[in-house]
This record gives sequence, structure tokens and C-alpha cells, in this order.
Amino acid sequence: MNRELLTVVVAAYNEAESLPLLQPRIAAALDALAGEGVDGRVLYVDDGSRDRTWAVLQDLAAADARIGLLRLSRNFGKELALTAGLDRVERGGALILDADGQDPPELIGQFVAKWREGYDDVYGTRLEREGEGWLKRSTAHAFYRVIGRLSKTPIPADTGDFRLLSQRALEGLRQLRERHRFMKGLFGWVGYNRVALPYHREARVAGASKFNFWRLWNLALEGITSFSTAPLRLATYLGLATALLAFGFGVWVVAKALLWGDPVAGWPTMMSVILFLGGVQLIALGLIGEYLGRLYEESKQRPLYLVDTWLPAAGVSSGPS
Ligand code: UDP
Ligand code: MG
Repeated sequence: MNRELLTVVVAAYNEAESLPLLQPRIAAALDALAGEGVDGRVLYVDDGSRDRTWAVLQDLAAADARIGLLRLSRNFGKELALTAGLDRVERGGALILDADGQDPPELIGQFVAKWREGYDDVYGTRLEREGEGWLKRSTAHAFYRVIGRLSKTPIPADTGDFRLLSQRALEGLRQLRERHRFMKGLFGWVGYNRVALPYHREARVAGASKFNFWRLWNLALEGITSFSTAPLRLATYLGLATALLAFGFGVWVVAKALLWGDPVAGWPTMMSVILFLGGVQLIALGLIGEYLGRLYEESKQRPLYLVDTWLPAAGVSSGPS
């Protein structure tokens, strides 16, 4: 029988407490798959952690030959850490999992079942989120609705990075080398056969979330500017609307002066019009600046990440079996 290869890719940033709890659960899931003709591997990407994560990972790898380790030269952020990991999955499919146990490894079997039915992108859709406050839940909800409407690329709502990608989907993803990486959008861009897999998102097993509101806000901006130029168009419409209003107001002011004369008052109107126009212009400029800044970043053509250490899992590079 044809054996398939699946690599579980885990990005970890300061997850020394969670990883020892997570690895046995992944290992158990892979053991179960071995009987069904799927060879499992795990690839941990240490995203420049400052705690004992790398030492913990080396211990885990020493105990299980299926584990590969990749260490980045510094903290590049989750999106780039995942990119680095996925770049190194040369054969077979890849399943992306959070290091904190919020994406239960026990579901790997269900993802694999869909994959073997022929789907290229099996994405986990959160039914509920435990251990997260209403503010995070409601802003996340609003974000997915906004990006869903603005973006031409399909971005399913309430879908994180917990997903399984087939080999050809991975090959597609690897061709997208942009610096500003909004992974959820990039997965959607790749396309092919996609299917949702609803699941209950659990609370973290240990440690604290690395995404505070500022980081999430920036991620949201990244998503919107990477997958939509609607804000630029909004600036155009805003400009058009204010120009029309200003024109109407101008006609009225001139007509009034001609018909009834002008006793030179109107300082308040003048002030408010100037301030309003100034505000609109600054907003439009800022919007253009957001896109221009990203263009500048892209034009530098820097590598997306640098690798410190790459320790492939034993047997992965042995070629097709
Ligand atoms: N992560 C990462 N680099 C970072 C921040 C986070 O690799 O700079 C990893 C982190 O270790 C975890 C995943 O991304 O495996 C999700 O992070 P977290 O649980 O903090 O985010 P949340 O679930 O709260 O959105
Ligand atoms: Mg988490």
C-alpha cells in the first residue's frame, strides 16, 4: 500500500511549559495514523524564544526520531515562523498546530480523513473559543466579517491556522514570497479543494497568549491591506464626497454674498470647513501611506527569515519510499 507522509508543523515562541504537554498528544495521534498508512513527522519551529523552549525541544527530539527542529535567528512572528516550517516540508502534506494545545492534536485523525478524501486544504473552523474574553471574541468576530467582505480572496470566518495542506497546496503557498504575510489570506489565495472542519477551541494548556490587542490590531491591518485595496477607494470616495459638499457650500456662500451682501462674519464656518477638509486630507494621506510603506518593505527584497539551526527528523530526507 502507498504510504503517505504528514508533517505536523508547530511554531513555538516561549512555549517551554506547553510543549512537554503537547508532544505526547501529537505522538499519540501519529501512532494511531501509522496503522492507517500515514507516516507522521513533527517539525517544531523555535521562533527565537527567550525561555527554555529550544532546550525543551532538543530533549523532545532526542526521545522521538520523528521530530525535526528548526530554530530561527530571532523572533520573526508566527506567520514567518510557519512559513519557515512549511518551506521545509518537501514531501507529503502538512498540518499546522498551535503550540499551546488550543488546537487539539486529537483531531489530527479527522483532518487526515478529509485529506485522504482528496481535499487540499482542510481548515478548522472554531465553534467556540474557551478561555478568551468577550472582547477578544467579539473583535475577532467583527474582523472576520469585515475582511470577508473587503477581500476578493475567500477568507472563511472564524478560521485560524489550524489546518492540513496537501502537497500541491504547499507548493502553491511556497510561491507566495511576500513579506507582509497574512497567512489566512494566503491559504485562501492558493485555492484547490477546500473543506471546513468545525471544532471546539480549547483554552491554553499553559503560559499566556503572545497576542495582545496591539499585535492583533496590527494583524488585522495587515490582513486588510494585504488582501484589499478597498480603503484606498474609500479615500477616493471620501475625497469626492467632501469636494462635492465644499462645492455646494461655495456656491451658497457666493450666492448669498451677491444677493444680500456680506457683512464679513463667518469665522466659525470658515474654521470648521478648514479643519474638516484638513482632517479628511490627512486620513486619505495616511491610508496611502499605509500602502506605500508596505510597497517599500516589499521592494527591499529581504529574505523572509533567517535560520539558526536546522535539524531534520531522522528519515525525512531519505527520498520517496
Ligand atoms: N507564536 C510564534 N511567534 C510569535 C508569537 C506566537 O511562533 O511571535 C506561536 C505561539 O507559540 C503559538 C501560536 O503562535 O504556538 C499562537 O500564539 P498564541 O497562543 O499566543 O496566540 P492566540 O492563540 O492567543 O491567538
Ligand atoms: Mg493560543
